[in-house]
Amino acid sequence: MESLRVRFAPSPTGALHIGGARTALYNWLAARGSGGTLVLRIEDTDRERSTPENVEQILDALRWLELDWDEGPISQFERAPRHSERLDELLDSGAAYRDATTGAEVQEWRKENPGRGYRGMALEGAAAEGAAIRLRVPDEGETVVADAIRGEIRFRNDLQDDPVIARADGSVLYNFAVAVDDADMGITDVIRGDDHLSNTPRQLLVLEALGEEPPRYAHLPLLHGPDGKKLSKRHGAASVQELREAGFLPAAVRNYLALLGWGAEDDETLLATDELVHRFSIDRVGRAAAIFDEKKLRWMNGRYMRDESLDRYEAELAGHLARNDPAAAAEFAAATPEARREACEIVRDKAQVVTEVWPLISFLFTEPRIEDVDPKIWSKVMKPGTRSLLRKADEAIAAAEPFDAETLEAGLRELIDSEGVSATKVLQPIRVAITGSNVSPGIFESLVALGRERVVARLDRAVGHLGDRLPGDDSDPG
Ligand code: GLU
Repeated sequence: MESLRVRFAPSPTGALHIGGARTALYNWLAARGSGGTLVLRIEDTDRERSTPENVEQILDALRWLELDWDEGPISQFERAPRHSERLDELLDSGAAYRDATTGAEVQEWRKENPGRGYRGMALEGAAAEGAAIRLRVPDEGETVVADAIRGEIRFRNDLQDDPVIARADGSVLYNFAVAVDDADMGITDVIRGDDHLSNTPRQLLVLEALGEEPPRYAHLPLLHGPDGKKLSKRHGAASVQELREAGFLPAAVRNYLALLGWGAEDDETLLATDELVHRFSIDRVGRAAAIFDEKKLRWMNGRYMRDESLDRYEAELAGHLARNDPAAAAEFAAATPEARREACEIVRDKAQVVTEVWPLISFLFTEPRIEDVDPKIWSKVMKPGTRSLLRKADEAIAAAEPFDAETLEAGLRELIDSEGVSATKVLQPIRVAITGSNVSPGIFESLVALGRERVVARLDRAVGHLGDRLPGDDSDPG
């Protein structure tokens, strides 16, 4: 297979968005799958909006996604001398010329000349001073974008304006810089968002004028939300940073983004990254807008979390707590290695994203206060009769030998049967009494992890509290 030279060329004007992450990933897969090279080019020619913080943010997001690059980061801005050099070639050969017409004047001209591309006057000498530089577009023929995803798109040359490629001061414009850089960097395949399709004929014309072989192009369809609208903040996390903060794992994000709009696969297949690399091909990318559905990503992330090794799981959790909740991080760190491990073990099936983990297991590390339990949950679960059931459950749990999930389950099932009540009537009050919440990891595993002593103490406490709070319950024997 031909090894490809591809590039990811973000403009550092803000965070790395999910669409940009998908572009980066597809380039990375194309490079890795072909034994090729990924060049990271920072398109920082917009000096006002391209800040070092934005660059760092993008590099961080790529590192978090574990998308490594082989060359770069190369600053486009710093290549300005090279851009001027190539511009001079075109001026010397007459392929580019100076023209003082303003944008407004071109608009006027267009009204009077419908159906034609604007051609400027090639000014010389003193008249040329202060004039911008345009590229001469041939009057005949077509510029053909043979796009790997969109197919062949033809642009009639006589309909295209001679594009401005540099300002009067000689600083080049975007489409010129991109074309020069792609040529200099030996890029074989340009994989980027659909929003750049309309720039492509101009870049091709520049490459042709420079006598350069054009790369192949693949324009990725835009990402949409489940409502069919262009992906935005309304749909949930919009940037890689936000995905990270929301507790997603990089491997799950890679998996999900790779399958989005990638033809033959549905978007629920779990594929390890080397499998993605192996199977990726730009020809498989579909033309239709890809739907980014955060719910599906959550589901997939949950699968990744479940399959994560306990060591990594614990490290992910500890890292997340350290960044977002120092008090919880300290509590977690203070526990024994066994306690930490057991907590991770029992929560693994339950949490879909890392942010969900701590609320599900914090009861193992700090005693939840009854006063802090949501009153709605408390009153829904603690009914007349509950106090007596909790007492009996307390006895069964205190007597369980050995103190393991099977024995606890058998003992409590026996109680449920002999009382002739539903399992929920017994197990939910236990859950709320020991965890302070109505959702938790499996109840029997939770009891074991908490340990007999703490379970009994918390049940006693709840029984006492019910005595205070529900006097009606006292009519119930027990
Ligand atoms: N700098 C452009 C962007 O961030 C990408 C240009 C390209 O890939 O050619 O949208």
